[in-house]
Amino acid sequence: KSGKIFQEFKTQLKEEGLAEEVKIIMTGCFGLCAKGPIVVIYPEGAFYQHVSPEDVKEIISEHIIKGRIVERLLSDENDGAEIHKAIADTDFYRSQQRVALEKCGVIDPENINEYLAYDGYAAYEKVVKTMTPEQVCDYITESGLRGRGGAGYPTGLKWKATFNAQGDKKYIVCNADEGDPGAFMDRSILEGDPHCIIEAMMIAGYAVGADQGYVYVRAEYPIAVQRLQIAINQAREYGILGKNVMGLGHDFDVDIRLGAGAFVCGEATALVQSIEGRRGEPKQKPPHLADHGLFGKPTVLNNVETFANICPIILKGKEWFRSIGNEKNAGTKVFALGGKIVNTGLVEVPMGMPMRTIIEEIGGGIPGGHKFKAAQTGGPSGGCIPASLIDTPIDFDNLTAVGSMMGSGGLIVMDDTTCMVDIAKFFLEFTVHESCGKCTPCRIGNKLLYDILEKITSGKGEMEDIAKMEELCTYIKNNSLCALGQTAPNPVVSTLKFFKDEYIAHIKDKR
Ligand code: SF4
Repeated sequence: KSGKIFQEFKTQLKEEGLAEEVKIIMTGCFGLCAKGPIVVIYPEGAFYQHVSPEDVKEIISEHIIKGRIVERLLSDENDGAEIHKAIADTDFYRSQQRVALEKCGVIDPENINEYLAYDGYAAYEKVVKTMTPEQVCDYITESGLRGRGGAGYPTGLKWKATFNAQGDKKYIVCNADEGDPGAFMDRSILEGDPHCIIEAMMIAGYAVGADQGYVYVRAEYPIAVQRLQIAINQAREYGILGKNVMGLGHDFDVDIRLGAGAFVCGEATALVQSIEGRRGEPKQKPPHLADHGLFGKPTVLNNVETFANICPIILKGKEWFRSIGNEKNAGTKVFALGGKIVNTGLVEVPMGMPMRTIIEEIGGGIPGGHKFKAAQTGGPSGGCIPASLIDTPIDFDNLTAVGSMMGSGGLIVMDDTTCMVDIAKFFLEFTVHESCGKCTPCRIGNKLLYDILEKITSGKGEMEDIAKMEELCTYIKNNSLCALGQTAPNPVVSTLKFFKDEYIAHIKDKR
C-alpha cells in the first residue's frame, strides 16, 4: 500500500507541475505499525496516519499547495486519540529516545548521500584519525554498550578479545538472522538505515584488524537484503568499501550471506557454520569465536542493533551514551511491541524504563476494555511477566531477576482473556520445531515437556504432571548444549511460577 501511495504522489505532483519543487522519499519504518501507512510532510512534520492512495489528492491540494493541514488524517478515528500535528508530539513517540533507530523513517535508505548528510561515515573517519585500534575497543567498553542480541555481553570486551587473538585473517560478522516470532527490530534497521551497519562493521574491522565483514540475513527479509546490497554497492562506488577505504589506509569490504530460516542459526556458532556452507548446528564453546570463529579465524559477531549503536557512541561520546539508561545498562533498547496492545509497532526506550510506561503510555494500553495480564519478553525462550510486576524496569538484569530475559527485544502483551498454559505450549511448540536435534536434552526433553502440556490442555492432565514438568525444565536447562535448549523451558518455568493456578484449573476441571 505504501508503494501505491508513493506512486500516487509522484504522478499527482507531476500533474500539478510540482515534481521538481517537492521531494518525495520512501523511508524505512517509522515504528508505529498500528497507524500505517504513514506520510510525513516537512517542514511542519505533519504526521498523517492510515493514509490511502485516495488521500493523496487532498494532501497535495490542501497541505502542499495551500499550506493547510489535513486534520482528519492526523487523528485516529478508531481509538479517539487526540489530534497530533507532529511525530514528536504523539504519545507513542514522546517517551521514546531514538539512538539505533535515529535515522529510520527519516532518510532515504537507498541514497548514500542522505546518510552522508547525517554525518555518515564521519565516525569511521574519526576513529581512524584519532584512535588506535586498542583505544577503540576500550572506548566501546567504557561506553557500557552490551550486546543487544540477547546475552548482554559487553561489546568492547568482545572486540578486545578478538583484537588480542592471533591470526593472519580476522572477520566481522553481523547477525541479522532475526528469528523470534513477532520480532522485526533488525529488519527495520537494515531497511531504514543500512549504511549505519556497514560503517559500524568498518569501525569494528579497524578495531580488531579485520578486512572482511559478512552480514548474515534472513532470506525472508527481501527488502532488507535489497537495501543492504544497494548500500554496499554505493559504498564501494564512493571508495568507502574496498581497498584503502576512504584513503585512510585500511582495507575493508562487506558481503551478504542469506540464512534459510532456521531459528538455531541465530546462535553464534551455528551461524558461523552456516556461512561456511555447513549445516547450521551449534558447537561446544570454548573455543570462542574471538579465537576460533569464521573459517577458524578470530571473529567478532554482533547483532544488528548492537552495531547500530556504534556510530552514535563514537560521534556523541561514551559519556553521552552512559547518561542514557542506568549504571549497568547503558543506552536504549528497541522492542517489537505486539499482541493485545493498541499501538503495535517498534519502540526504542532508555534502558530501565518501567514496563508500565511502555505498555500504558507508548503502547496506548490494552484494547477493548480488557486488563493487562502478562507480557512475554525475550522471544520464544523468554518468560512471562505478570501484572503484579508491571513496574519492573526493563533492562538486562531486572528481566533476568524476574525470570525472563531481554532476548533480542520481542515484547508480546497478553490481556485477561489469554490462557497462560496455552501461551507456554505455543512457545514450546516453536522451540521443539526449531531444535536442531544435536543434543538429547533439548531434542527429547522439550518434546516430552510439550507432550505433558498437550495432555494438560486437552483435559487429561494429572497433578503429578506439574512436578514432572518442573523436573524436566531443570534437566533441560542444565544439560542442553546451546542457548536454544537451555532457555526453551523458560515460558513453562515462568508460567508455572506466576500462573500455576491455571495449570491446576486445567487439570481439576478436565479442560
Ligand atoms: Fe541443537 Fe537444541 Fe542441542 Fe542447541 S540445545 S544444539 S538447538 S539440540
